[in-house]
Order: sequence, then C-alpha cells, then structure tokens
Amino acid sequence: MSEYLVETENLCKEFKGFAAVSNVTLKVRTGSIHALIGPNGAGKTTCFNLLTKFLKPTAGTIRYRGQDITDLPPTDVARRGMVRSFQISAVFPGMTALENVKLALQRARGGSFDFWRSRSALRAYDTRARELLDDVGLGDFAGTMAAEMPYGRKRALEIATTLALDPDMLLLDEPMAGMAHEEIDRISALIRRIGKNRTILMVEHNLNVVADLSDEITVLARGEILAQGSYRDIADHPGVREAYLGV
Ligand code: ADP
Repeated sequence: MSEYLVETENLCKEFKGFAAVSNVTLKVRTGSIHALIGPNGAGKTTCFNLLTKFLKPTAGTIRYRGQDITDLPPTDVARRGMVRSFQISAVFPGMTALENVKLALQRARGGSFDFWRSRSALRAYDTRARELLDDVGLGDFAGTMAAEMPYGRKRALEIATTLALDPDMLLLDEPMAGMAHEEIDRISALIRRIGKNRTILMVEHNLNVVADLSDEITVLARGEILAQGSYRDIADHPGVREAYLGV
C-alpha cells in the first residue's frame, strides 16, 4: 500500500496548445494536509479540476489509493472518497443549515429528494445532520436560513455538506477567501480538526494559513512544480521568492 493517497505522474493539460499544467508529479501523503500554492495563473485550479475529473488531462496519470483513476468520471471519483468542496452556490439559500445538510446526506445515499423514506431513516438523517453541524461549529445555526448566515459560516456549511459524503480526501479551493481574521481562525481550526482523520489538499493564498496548517506544500508556477516540501523548505527557495516577490 502506497504512503500516498493521490499520486499524479507527469500530468499535463493544454488549452489550445497553451500548457496550463506541465508534467506535474504531485504526491499527497495519506492523512496529511497538503497545500497547493502559486501565483495567479499558475495552474492550481486546473490541477484541482484534473484531480476531480472535471477536466481530462492531455497526458499523464492520476492514481488514487494506488489505482489508476485517469479515465474515471467525476461521480466515480467522488464515490471512491475524493470530494471537492462545493462552492457556496451549491448551498441552497432558501433552506436552513439543517435542511441543507440533510439534503446532502440524502443525496449521498443515492436518492435526490427521497422525502418518502421511512420515519426512522429521516430521523437518522436528522441526527447525523445535527452531528455534522456540531462538527463544523454550526450547532447553533441549525434553524438559520443559509441566506442569512455570515460568509464564514456559509463556508463552514459548505464543508458540512461535503462531509456528508463521508470523504477520505477533501479538496478545498481557497477556504479562507474573503474572510476576516476571526473567521480565518475559526475555519483554520475546523480544517485542522477535519484533517485529523482525512487527507486534505487545499489551494490557499493566505501564506500564514498555509504555514500554520500544512504538513506539505507544493508550489506551482507557470503550470510546473517549482518546489515541494515543508513551509520552511519552500520559504527560502529562490524560485519561490522570485515567483511571489519578484526578487
Ligand atoms: P490558478 O488557479 O493557479 O490561478 P488556473 O489553473 O486557473 O490558474 O489557470 C492556469 C492557466 O491556464 C491560466 O493562464 C489560465 O488563463 C489558463 N486556463 C485555465 N482554464 C482555461 C480554459 N478553460 N481555457 C483556456 N485557458 C485556460
């Protein structure tokens, strides 16, 4: 069994001849929090889209749990346990936090709006949904409409709906974007907590957060891997300093 949950090998993606991602060999250790960083246009989002199969690679392979998933559709990848946090648009604003998580649980079990399930099944969804809300610190928001929740709380709700799928690996796309200090601290604590028994790959611009949370970091620039290692390893890397600071 490999020590890596996800491994890509020479992953490439071209858009009409433009190489957005070139020969990326990324290894995400099982149980780690791994950050993918790099300047705008570095290829981070494209990498995420390749891993979750929203995009097809031009070349290269992706393995998950040692199995080749390069040609699998996104739903199969999610079913195997690699799940991307959905954007806030996937949280239904006209539903309460509890209803959103219950719906995510019902969908995770296969049905879409299967409200006609047995009473005991509905009770089980309710109990599990409340547990998930507690897990992400939203216990007091169960009855609040998603539309009325502050931004940071909505992101936590988005994470709760993702956890409803019971993922082994979570891909988080800029979890701190647009957040105030206090919200950043709260979501950092949440990521650390959910990362205790899951593998997390996150794209994040806030380098303090990256330094604080990540076990390993991969730096992308112009579609290629520039550096990999701990924060300390990459912070003094001259190429990284140049890519970030132009020095
Ligand atoms: P990042 O997330 O690091 O900012 P992206 O992965 O979004 O970078 O983009 C990498 C490069 O690929 C950019 O130059 C971007 O313009 C280009 N790109 C991304 N998606 C497409 C697309 N669908 N068609 C053409 N070019 C794209």
